[in-house]
Amino acid sequence: MTTTLAVGIDVGGTNTSFGITDEAGKIHVSGHISTAAFDAVEDFVAELNAKLAPRINRLGRERVVGAGIGAPNGNFFTGEIVFAPNLPWKGVLPLAKLFEHASGLPTVLTNDAKAATIGEMIYGAAKGINDFIVVTLGTGLGSGFVANGRLIYGHDGLAGELGHVTAVAGGRLCNCGKIGCLERYVSATGIAITAAQWLQERTTPSMLRDINSKITSHDIFIAASKGDALALEIFDYTASIFGTVLADAVAITSPQKIILFGGLAHAGDLLLVPLRKYFESALLPIYRNKIQILTSTLQGADAAILGASALVWENRNQMAVKYSN
Ligand SMILES: [Zn+2]
Repeated sequence: MTTTLAVGIDVGGTNTSFGITDEAGKIHVSGHISTAAFDAVEDFVAELNAKLAPRINRLGRERVVGAGIGAPNGNFFTGEIVFAPNLPWKGVLPLAKLFEHASGLPTVLTNDAKAATIGEMIYGAAKGINDFIVVTLGTGLGSGFVANGRLIYGHDGLAGELGHVTAVAGGRLCNCGKIGCLERYVSATGIAITAAQWLQERTTPSMLRDINSKITSHDIFIAASKGDALALEIFDYTASIFGTVLADAVAITSPQKIILFGGLAHAGDLLLVPLRKYFESALLPIYRNKIQILTSTLQGADAAILGASALVWENRNQMAVKYSN
């Protein structure tokens, strides 16, 4: 008996990675192409398919159930990417339809955070868990909420934008146009803004002052790991804002676990220890001491491909070619 396969595609602002996986989470082949090098989305899709088609044929086209795409601002219901600020193509892009036409494979698309969430559910720390939240900490902050065993899409497919809840009243201006959004504080970008601001406002000594280029979240992580007081305080401040918002989110879906995914999650205890403290103190007492906050077990380059291909397994009963023109 041969196993069935799914294509997983993770579209990032710079690069797009792809792979062909089975349901047990084994990636049979993988590769990547540049996202940024293509001025037109049609050319990007043609190249992606040109790379994938021989690999699909080699493994056996009849074994491939479909393709799942995780992309910034992806909408599961429409298969479109809608105004993604970090991609080279602007406006509304019917990516699922374009890929389905090019490849002939039934294609589902959702945003990258929701793909990561389904990946955790099928392959990762949320296996067998019905109620959990995944928060992706990259350039921005994305999230996926699973309640009663189902990912929440909402009426328009856009549920779960925790990155854009108001975390600080009267706070920083966000790219979305709102004020004080969580991702302006809790993300690789947010923590770097905090560092830049504090270094300007304060005279406290810090090894961050020795950095001549723009300070990154990784610089802050390195400084905090070496015991730099200001960097540790930046993590504490970030955790205080994050913990308060997560505690509020708990009141809505009552999760068993909160799983952190992506760059800033690699900070480990530097973030987790203060985060758990602020989170517990902000929780409604009925929720205290029973919700785990942990980092993803799917870290690494393969996690995004697994997340995207997991979309196919999650939707396998509805997988069919649907974009007829
Ligand atoms: Zn925002």
